[in-house]
Amino acid sequence: MALVLAKEDLGGYLSRLAREYVVYAPVKRGDIVTFDIWRDGDEAVLDYETTNSAVKKAFFPAEETLLEFKGGAVSEPEHMGKSIVVFGIHPYDVQALKILDHAFGKPVKDSYYSRRRRGSFIVAVEHGEIPNAFYSELDLDFESGYDIILLDEGDHYLLDVKTKRGHKLVKNGNVRSRSGHVRKPKIPKSGKKKLNVKRTSAFLDGGPDDELWENLAKECFACGICSYVCPVCHCFDVEDRVGLSGEEGERVRCWDSCMLADFALVAGGVNFRDKRHMRIHNWYHHKFSRAVKERGMPDCVGCGRCITYCPAKIKIHDIIRRCEEKG
Ligand code: SF4
Ligand code: SF4
Repeated sequence: MALVLAKEDLGGYLSRLAREYVVYAPVKRGDIVTFDIWRDGDEAVLDYETTNSAVKKAFFPAEETLLEFKGGAVSEPEHMGKSIVVFGIHPYDVQALKILDHAFGKPVKDSYYSRRRRGSFIVAVEHGEIPNAFYSELDLDFESGYDIILLDEGDHYLLDVKTKRGHKLVKNGNVRSRSGHVRKPKIPKSGKKKLNVKRTSAFLDGGPDDELWENLAKECFACGICSYVCPVCHCFDVEDRVGLSGEEGERVRCWDSCMLADFALVAGGVNFRDKRHMRIHNWYHHKFSRAVKERGMPDCVGCGRCITYCPAKIKIHDIIRRCEEKG
């Protein structure tokens, strides 16, 4: 038997899900498609090329209050209570969630991330060509990490349920059974050879004193957009915001980027990466060398967002291929 969701029933399906869960889906906001909390009346767009923001914000928001204090009392904000469903994520972005699970899980478990991630459901969707993407040149596993994958069959989706938990989401009046089988998801490939991560990382270990980084520093605006749109980048800053009375305030964490000039500024006014070429090298070194040593894979899933949204039109794909050649 196969499970089927008609495209015309997608809104009804999400509406039922949203009664029980917090549902993040690719939705239209003006001219762009972005991952956001789905609400009745929203149009979910499942045939998108790429979203401007990655789904990491469901588990690691751009800004969140860690604790509040008033008088002598300190409290944590209440958790939203409902489980999260990430609906309509591409399989390479699912791999980014696996990297975040590792980063926020070891060596110390991040309770803010894990309470959102625990009990969450992941519903993937197959996709067509993605501009600037190079996920097929990395060693990724596209067939795990999700509870269900939606297979596009024209006027309907076939639902391939991969986990026991996934069956909870198909007990929904809009999903019907019919005879037949599911097939493997379609994953478009770039046709280029896999990146030799060992050689890339060997060159990056040589440090920032190569003309490649000096030349890139002349083009890069050090704006940090590449980090903010990346589904994997997870650096954050923590600051205490105290009211004028000094009696109340909150501790907040927010996304940060190692591309920004003050990222490595420490007490005493010392900045240990004050030159732009050092920061650019560090960004690549972390993703393609230190992360590989720590987790066995780069902190990159080849989604191409950092290329699509870079105002200087810098192509990470070309840079890492040059590192590979030099390695
Ligand atoms: S988005 Fe582009 S210009 Fe901005 S910091 Fe990243 S590489 Fe540099
Ligand atoms: S392609 Fe760019 S945005 Fe996408 S995962 Fe890699 S570094 Fe991050």
